[in-house]
Amino acid sequence: IINLDFLAELGIQKRNPAFSTGRTFATLDPSRATRKIVSPTDGEVIAEVEMATQEDLDHIVATSQKAYENWKTLPAPRRGEIVRQIGEALRKYKDPLGKLVTYEMGKIYQEGLGEVQEMIDICDFAVGQSRQLYGLEMKSERQDHRMFEQWHPLGIVGIISAFNFPVAVWSWNAMIAAIGGNVCIWKPSEKTPLTAIACQNILQDVLKANDLPEGIFSYIIGDAAIGASMSHDTRIPLVSATGSTRMGKKVAEAVGARLGKSLLELGGNNALIITENADVEMAIRATVFGAVGTCGQRCTSTRRLIVHASQYDKVKERLLKIYPSLSIGHPLDESSLVGPLIDNDAVDAFKAAINKATSEGGKLLIGGDSYSKEGLSSNYVHPAIVEAENHYQIVQDETFAPILYLIKYDGEVENAIRIQNDVKQGLSSAIFTNHLLESEAFLSAAGSDCGIANINIGTSGAEIGGAFGGEKETGGGRESGSDAWKAYMRRQTNTVNYGRVLPLAQGIKFDI
Ligand code: NAD
Repeated sequence: IINLDFLAELGIQKRNPAFSTGRTFATLDPSRATRKIVSPTDGEVIAEVEMATQEDLDHIVATSQKAYENWKTLPAPRRGEIVRQIGEALRKYKDPLGKLVTYEMGKIYQEGLGEVQEMIDICDFAVGQSRQLYGLEMKSERQDHRMFEQWHPLGIVGIISAFNFPVAVWSWNAMIAAIGGNVCIWKPSEKTPLTAIACQNILQDVLKANDLPEGIFSYIIGDAAIGASMSHDTRIPLVSATGSTRMGKKVAEAVGARLGKSLLELGGNNALIITENADVEMAIRATVFGAVGTCGQRCTSTRRLIVHASQYDKVKERLLKIYPSLSIGHPLDESSLVGPLIDNDAVDAFKAAINKATSEGGKLLIGGDSYSKEGLSSNYVHPAIVEAENHYQIVQDETFAPILYLIKYDGEVENAIRIQNDVKQGLSSAIFTNHLLESEAFLSAAGSDCGIANINIGTSGAEIGGAFGGEKETGGGRESGSDAWKAYMRRQTNTVNYGRVLPLAQGIKFDI
């Protein structure tokens, strides 16, 4: 029996408001459409959420525009101080919020806690960043001129997030955008809106204590239609969208048509290479966590394992020994390593992908069927391993489920790199080797074409300090650390003439 006290602790009610502009929440309204939020863990209805309308979005945008007038004038380190307090509040709620992430999304509790830790980490990062929104100084070619650049905020940042990282991805965007002087409107996945409401409840106290206006951090609950409205809305200069490539293409099209900015974090099809010079035991540990962690529902999950022929049988044997011992079960039970898929559609997609793989010539080695136990939902599966070839249509697609395609390569590491790059997506990649030449080849311009390339570390589990994102159909966006903050800002080049004459650039003579 699970103790659900964390719901009350986080302010989750039976029925929850469709939006909030920060300090206040929409009044509950029985005439509104609602959505029941079912836990993938046990199939129980956790709560209901009211669905927002276009009028609600208009109201939120107007409130955000007003807040922006105030927020953008605050010194950036002052904004950093607010983010510091948000980080403190998150520390206080780490345990209940981690539990809600687990109960609403289905990842195991350790990963739920890890997700909240990522939020705390990005707050810390953003506090420091708030004093480092540096522009360059360039040397002017003109006498007595000074040239430099400044970074100013954009205005409203729309954040559309996916179900699988229900809170961390929002915080990467929102905390960095906020220290830059932007205000944020968050549309969480309609599959995981309760975690967004919980975050807003946590934020609310900080905003109130600092007497800040409504509209700095808002959320709106809706499905694709609200996301599409945000994409078309010229009052939202930047839309940061995380989710499937299918969704990202639609967002890019809508935002592009109005020449707005988009930041896209889309699907991955990540590979891990095991060369003849790899430490196989270490590689196996990384592979298993990458393939079955979050039940294969991380954008960075390991989907393809490309193994040198000399290691292939050993690797296969090890994996087939480990897979049956992975404990599948309720993700709040600390002994579980594999939790459920998000819903029944995901279970169907998992099974359909395995059928497709075998019909294309693949060999199912283990798993692939449902796992059932009293008290659990029908969303649990046995993680699968399929021997396959990279060119199979199904291997080319991202199936958001725990399927590991085992692919053999011969000869030099370049052959493995070619296979790893031969997909449409370009998010995360990894190689296990203790050979310098192989690892450098992997990191070279002729190596991995992904946004993330790791040596002797798996594909999943990035740190917030680096810029996160990927190439090709992954969308090209970068979030989180490094200089990703620049995506939320507009660059202004300034030239000041402190002389008494007006020389023209390029030495142009123009006598009047
Ligand atoms: P999804 O594309 O179904 O939904 C993501 C979000 O987009 C939801 O909030 C949804 O309501 C919204 N949306 C859907 N259609 C839209 C439209 N036409 N216009 C605007 N918004 C729209 O994705 P999902 O199933 O929630 O998440 C899984 C996917 O997300 C996977 O492909 C995964 O790889 C990807 N993902 C990528 C990253 C990354 O950083 N690259 C991180 C997490 C998840």
